[in-house]
Amino acid sequence: MKLEQILFTQGFGTRRVCAGLVDCGAVRVGGQVVDDPSADFDTAGLVFEVDGREWPFRQPALVMLHKPAGYECSQKPRHHPSVMSLLPPPLRTRGVQPVGRLDEDTTGLLLFTDDGKLIHRLTSPKHHVPKVYEATTRHPVEEAVVQRLLAGVVLDDDPEPVRALQAECTGPNALRLVLAEGKYHQVKRMVAAAGNRVEALHRSAFGALTLPADLAPGRWCWVEPEAIFAGA
Ligand code: URA
Repeated sequence: MKLEQILFTQGFGTRRVCAGLVDCGAVRVGGQVVDDPSADFDTAGLVFEVDGREWPFRQPALVMLHKPAGYECSQKPRHHPSVMSLLPPPLRTRGVQPVGRLDEDTTGLLLFTDDGKLIHRLTSPKHHVPKVYEATTRHPVEEAVVQRLLAGVVLDDDPEPVRALQAECTGPNALRLVLAEGKYHQVKRMVAAAGNRVEALHRSAFGALTLPADLAPGRWCWVEPEAIFAGA
């Protein structure tokens, strides 16, 4: 693929902007400046640099963000900045979208991709992709609350009970829940329906993917789709 086209597919701007980046020597491949926009490269495993920052060629884009509190998942946020503002311009230009939503005050693993089919596969209740949540609760966690969450609780918008795939007490005021669906405020509503209250919420895993300990809040990294489905 021509270098100009590579930059274009990876979100570096219009074709003219991409050709301009190459022309002015801002792009390196294999450590060497390449100033010919029509230079041809095999994209398999290609890593290029733009203004000194490395970019692997990825089609589609799939990244995970360690979402900090204080950011909204909406594209049109009302009270806080959007999580999109934590991603670099090329990813935003490519039109990546959050995979599902986390509340403004929820922290943890949030995926983004520009692959609509992947978003559907990861968010559709049919596919049962498990998500792990660590909740800090207002009241000490009683065994009865854990049992109610496992047996199923009824939420106000659906007569069918929703149950946790797994629920365990992980500290005096701490609960780990594994859920297969992603209903609106699901953890907070389930815990409230079971007789406690969530004071803080963190998502630590999505499918087989866990949030790396060294990914600081506000930072993102690339993800291989297979890492989400490993073992499924
Ligand atoms: N459940 C919630 O209540 N909030 C989240 O952000 C995610 C799951």
